[in-house]
Amino acid sequence: MSIKQDVQLCSKLMGKARSTVVLSGAGMSTASGIPDFRGPEGLYSGKNGPTMESIFELESFVENPAVFYDFYRRFLSVVDRATPTYTHRFLAAMERESLLFGIVTQNIDALHQKAGSRAVYEIHGSIWTSRCLHCGREYDYKTSKKMAFSNQTPYCSCRGLIKPDIVFFGEEVRHLRECMDMAKKSDLFLVLGSSLTVAPASYLPSMCHGTVIIVNKGNIPFTSSIVGPKTLLMNYDLDTFFSTLNEELKLPIR
Ligand SMILES: [Zn+2]
Repeated sequence: MSIKQDVQLCSKLMGKARSTVVLSGAGMSTASGIPDFRGPEGLYSGKNGPTMESIFELESFVENPAVFYDFYRRFLSVVDRATPTYTHRFLAAMERESLLFGIVTQNIDALHQKAGSRAVYEIHGSIWTSRCLHCGREYDYKTSKKMAFSNQTPYCSCRGLIKPDIVFFGEEVRHLRECMDMAKKSDLFLVLGSSLTVAPASYLPSMCHGTVIIVNKGNIPFTSSIVGPKTLLMNYDLDTFFSTLNEELKLPIR
């Protein structure tokens, strides 16, 4: 099928769908300059630097928080400069036109919100808030960012260690109940830039009772257990796909 035929099919399904849900992953933001954490060229200091496991592992964080905060400062600098892609903005337009029920994202880069999306479920947590591991005091983004940049490791006034509300390995994902409910009620489920390798997000598409459309440039090592009753694979660059789709839909993109 050509891209024209694929977008026509997608447009038809979107027109018929009563409840469309999106799952977005790292591939959604690479065009914004946010590196894929799981890719070979992450935000890590080369082959001899700390591994992703040691950065996002609660025990190592408590033992040596400076390793995490070295990474986190670089991450925040990239996030601050990053701008949403066409696809992020297209999804925000879909929501404004009541064509999208919600977005489940595995990303922690806040780009969906920057693009104007409101119904965003950040299952791997977010950078919006940080928390003292000792007394539980919450710090907003502005304060926690300032603290991260003015101290090697930020501590609470109670001397407890402050941790951003990002989900670390072994911690429970956020909003799982709401995300599962949305997936179960959906009759169109778009998987965008997610390799569907990280559970439990990878199981959400299989809960959709309609069509699952996976848009991803490159192969996806998916198995039948993670896809719905009807799954379409569309092997395109996201921005190319959605800008072509919008030639059909003509949604106002901001
Ligand atoms: Zn505290």
